[in-house]
Amino acid sequence: MTMDERTLVTERIDKLLASHPPATTPEREFWGAQFDHGLAWVQHPEDFGGCGVSPRWQAEVDRRIVEAGGSVRNRYLNVLGIGMGAGTLMAHADEQRQRRMLRPMFTCEEIWCQLFSEPGAGSDLAALSTTAVKEGDTWIVNGQKVWTTLAHLATWGLLVARTDPDVPKHAGLTYFVVDMQADGVDVRPLYQITGEAEFNEVYFDDVRINDDMRVGEVGQGWAVAMTTLMNERVAIGSNVAPRGSGAIAHALEAWRQHGGDDPVARDQLLRYWVEAEAQRLTTIRAGEARKSGTPGPEGSTGKLHWADLNKAITAFTIDLLGAEGMTYPGGYEFTRPDETANRAESPHKAFLRARANSIEGGTSEIMKNILGERVLGLPGEPRVDKNVPWREVPRS
Ligand SMILES: Cc1cc2nc3c(=O)[nH]c(=O)nc-3n(C[C@H](O)[C@H](O)[C@H](O)COP(=O)(O)OP(=O)(O)OC[C@H]3O[C@@H](n4cnc5c(N)ncnc54)[C@H](O)[C@@H]3O)c2cc1C
Repeated sequence: MTMDERTLVTERIDKLLASHPPATTPEREFWGAQFDHGLAWVQHPEDFGGCGVSPRWQAEVDRRIVEAGGSVRNRYLNVLGIGMGAGTLMAHADEQRQRRMLRPMFTCEEIWCQLFSEPGAGSDLAALSTTAVKEGDTWIVNGQKVWTTLAHLATWGLLVARTDPDVPKHAGLTYFVVDMQADGVDVRPLYQITGEAEFNEVYFDDVRINDDMRVGEVGQGWAVAMTTLMNERVAIGSNVAPRGSGAIAHALEAWRQHGGDDPVARDQLLRYWVEAEAQRLTTIRAGEARKSGTPGPEGSTGKLHWADLNKAITAFTIDLLGAEGMTYPGGYEFTRPDETANRAESPHKAFLRARANSIEGGTSEIMKNILGERVLGLPGEPRVDKNVPWREVPRS
């Protein structure tokens, strides 16, 4: 860390906290001021919510804000926008889009969703079938997306569509920003194991997107999507909660109330506590080592480990609760939440929600493939459709 960056960031935080005391400033107003002070995404350039320093400083900014009674919960409320959309727009969108979209994204005035997965394309995302056909300056979109988190609240969607079926699957994709209120967009809730419908199915029926809402070149959608996914894995796996908070806090509380003098449970609790702390510190170290720009495949490490650990700790907590662990205090009343439930308030909900951790943002098997091939340099999987036009690849 250079002293210059430390001084610059510290001065800005001091100024922000003095002019907008977080404990008394309305949240959105505070987030707007944070953006204007260049402390939204510190690695972005001036005027785009950043101050051009290493992303490692973001944790310091967030720590100071929380300490001063402020909130960084916009990162949950608009996780698809702030966690993934911003990095994608900075890397690939034109300046006009960046100026128009980044600030309301950070303040949560405009919520974003990610329209990638389809019924026949999840892990094999490049196989997707939603089409965009050009007519003059407009693209006409038809198809279906699925598992679209927070689509019911979204103003904008990050969409990947097939614009050329006659070339191999990765080459025929183009990336767009779509207006979720446009005619022909139909968002339908999907009921989850937690009782909530955090995600949705989204149908596109002759939806029109102006060409100026294209992100990147025609046919370059795969590269742009990779930027989104690399940011997503870092966003999912790298939330640095305070020591002893989150899932391990639920486990500790359950052990205090139900653990008794069982030495096995105590030993297991300590192991998880140490592992959670090691994960937290590793995440901080990885963040400090990270260079500016799009995160690399190593972002998959944190995502992979966090998913397994979170599942294990939440299951251990339910075991500790005994018979009480089999109840579901909140009930299964159908709701459409205003944020993702990864910060679940009860151990029961946390246990159920954690089942998705090894699926969302790319499954653990896919994380292992990425780490094996792109970090360790192991031989790649056989890819039989690599040079075959998408139209000719058999699909179910
Ligand atoms: C809570 C939640 C939120 C989500 N939010 C969004 C969202 O906002 N936007 C969005 O676009 N998507 C979203 N998703 C979808 C998610 O990205 C996909 O579920 C995920 O990529 C897996 O795709 P799939 O469900 O089609 O499973 P499949 O790809 O069909 O996989 C089925 C199984 O096969 C395994 N498998 C597949 N290919 C391989 C391989 N090559 N090697 C080894 N094993 C393999 C997988 O690991 C998995 O176990 C969300 C999912 C969840 C659970």
